[in-house]
Amino acid sequence: MIKKRLFTPGPTPIPESVMLRMAEPIIHHRNPEFGEILTRVHENLQYLFQTKGPVVVLTSSGTGGVEATFTSLFSPGDTIIAANGGKFGERWVKMPKAFGLNVVELKVEWGKAPTADQIRELLKKHPETKAVYLVHSETSTGAATDVKTLSEVIRKESGALVCVDGITAVGAHEMRFDDWGIDVCVTGSQKGLMIPPGLAFVALSQRAIAAMETAKLPRFYFDLRKAVKAWEKNDTPWTPAVSLVIGVDAALQMLRQEGIEKIWERHRKLATALRMGVQAIGLKLFSETPSYAVTPVWVPEGVEWKAFNKIIKGKHGITIAGGQDDYTGKIFRVSHLGYYDALDMVTVMAAIEWSLAECGYKVELGKGVGTVMQQLM
Ligand SMILES: *Cc1c(COP(=O)(O)O)cnc(C)c1O
Repeated sequence: MIKKRLFTPGPTPIPESVMLRMAEPIIHHRNPEFGEILTRVHENLQYLFQTKGPVVVLTSSGTGGVEATFTSLFSPGDTIIAANGGKFGERWVKMPKAFGLNVVELKVEWGKAPTADQIRELLKKHPETKAVYLVHSETSTGAATDVKTLSEVIRKESGALVCVDGITAVGAHEMRFDDWGIDVCVTGSQKGLMIPPGLAFVALSQRAIAAMETAKLPRFYFDLRKAVKAWEKNDTPWTPAVSLVIGVDAALQMLRQEGIEKIWERHRKLATALRMGVQAIGLKLFSETPSYAVTPVWVPEGVEWKAFNKIIKGKHGITIAGGQDDYTGKIFRVSHLGYYDALDMVTVMAAIEWSLAECGYKVELGKGVGTVMQQLM
């Protein structure tokens, strides 16, 4: 028998208690019982994002949540700046173009994050900019962006909205939506929220809500004005994914019980320990500004990614992620976002050592594991 274990940055593992709640008989979304659940979900989402404003629940994956922000906040021809340092940054360049927005692309080398100077320069060059889109944790490269600092810069230099793809950052990295002056932050259910794919969560500032009133892009199902209006009554405009909302209620209660600062700290610790562990066996890290959600590592010379992946998955039951685009076969990515603890890092480190050793890589078994254990003692 082989136990299957998921170490991918979405979907992420689901706690047993959450799965059991989702397995209960379905209830109707217009009855008071569901109203109570949604009210609690809304409150706990405000806690998660650290905001007093609306965080609306949409039935879609994370990408749909971001699309809702483009179509609800802007008009054709509006200029936005989008930082592109990976697969997701690239998506936020392509998508607004598809809707007729004028996109100024800030190209960032994979593994790096956009800097304050780069943003400042672009805002000076494009004073008409309506919004800047940043990816808080770029899942394809494991690079984290300093959203707090960049938000300050954007606020100081312009009237542009600060819009954040927080899809693998919320619940892993510090996020203080109100205090940092963020206008839009999106996350998805299958990442830090520890439930299956299917829900997006969009936090909105008063400035963002005001922008929705004058925005002219066509929209209907993903009209955030409707979502906010319904939110005010602890309701949703359309039939929500009832079972997923019940699941996220259970997951958010777990997160609330742990406490948001403790959750950020847990992710920082697990990520740091794993980074030290892989380095202890001579592996090299890919990202220069490491994310606490996912750790990309260079596949060492002489090892074939395909052979390594076959062993770690087939023999040890562990699913990790490969590299994307130019880095396919060159890096592998290990996630520690969501429902993970110290022993999970020991487990995945052991599987990495075993699998690399079987691929002929010279490793003193237990060296990385020992480092991870030391770090997490
Ligand atoms: C997963 C992910 C997305 C896309 O979310 P989907 O739920 O797959 O639509 C966007 N941005 C980042 C950073 C992600 O990790």
